[in-house]
Amino acid sequence: MFKAVMIEKSADGVQSVSVRDVADNQLPKGDVTVRVEWSTLNYKDALAITGRGPIVRSFPMIPGIDFAGIVESSQREDIRPGARVILNGWGVGEKHWGGLAEKATVSGDWLVPLPDRLTSRQAMEIGTAGYTAMLCIQALQREGVTPDKGPILITGATGGVGSVAIMLLSRLGYHVVAVTGRPEEEAYLTALGAKEILPRQAFTTPGKALEKARWAGAVDVAGGTVLANVCASMAYGGVVTACGLAADMSFPSTVAPFILRGVILVGVDSVMCPRDRRLAAWSRLAELIDPVKLAEMTSEIALADAIEASAALLDGKIRGRVVVRMS
Ligand code: NDP
Repeated sequence: MFKAVMIEKSADGVQSVSVRDVADNQLPKGDVTVRVEWSTLNYKDALAITGRGPIVRSFPMIPGIDFAGIVESSQREDIRPGARVILNGWGVGEKHWGGLAEKATVSGDWLVPLPDRLTSRQAMEIGTAGYTAMLCIQALQREGVTPDKGPILITGATGGVGSVAIMLLSRLGYHVVAVTGRPEEEAYLTALGAKEILPRQAFTTPGKALEKARWAGAVDVAGGTVLANVCASMAYGGVVTACGLAADMSFPSTVAPFILRGVILVGVDSVMCPRDRRLAAWSRLAELIDPVKLAEMTSEIALADAIEASAALLDGKIRGRVVVRMS
């Protein structure tokens, strides 16, 4: 038996969630079984656990879109028992039992080796949020956004993606401007490396098709009107990476930033991201991360606390990253 968060749906469609014992023989099909050491609470996990978003595709479901742990058994030659591995995405925690459990069976194709410089806990302090932040930064770099081009705007700055993006971009020498709905977190954002802080309200009401040209690059986790206003205020040739919908799924923009300023909008997806990009992102994360700052932006909870913490995360009461301890 192992412990897991389990989401169930009754015959009349009512969703319930509990932490309970699950028998090993109930684990889904897969060629590698991992003893999960650490998992995390991501925005998507919180939507799944609270039922506030349609994340879970089949019930019963163990949520958790990421985990790090030790291979317990493997039918593959290239992944041996005892190896330390990381999983992000691939529909795990949505349509395949996920990481908020002491054990997970998955396809070996979905696993990446834990970089030598990182512990399992650090990998989950970074988590899917931090790995997505790295994918955004690598997209900015591929499009030629270097620190000399101008400031980089980051929305949802106190959240998981935003916090890691600030830390990494400032480490790389960029001038980072953080957008937050929590002005009381100024000291936190400055300590991570933000040089300027703007209130979220400056981006939440519909603006003009083109605003003052200001940003060379942007990492947007909000979507909706926020993303539209970010695009409208990009400098000529600026690059926006869009990875989230914390504000809204919509995109009420015009073509003006794209056809008059040559702005580039890059979509970033961590779930189905090809393996070579994942490996490159994790390798770079291992080089760049500041372990002290990373630990400071992280809070730790036990598996039993994951349900309560999910509501708090969606209500904007949690800052930075949340790691979930398995034992
Ligand atoms: P968090 O909950 O940790 O952070 C989200 C942050 O967004 C909040 O902390 C808040 O920051 C800000 N925010 C909340 N509500 C609004 C709003 N209405 N308008 C503008 N900003 C808001 O989540 P994550 O950082 O883990 O994820 C952020 C987004 O990115 C989510 O939508 C998530 O689904 C998505 N995501 C996408 C991935 C992908 O593969 N594309 C992978 C990982 C995440 P503040 O208080 O500082 O303003």
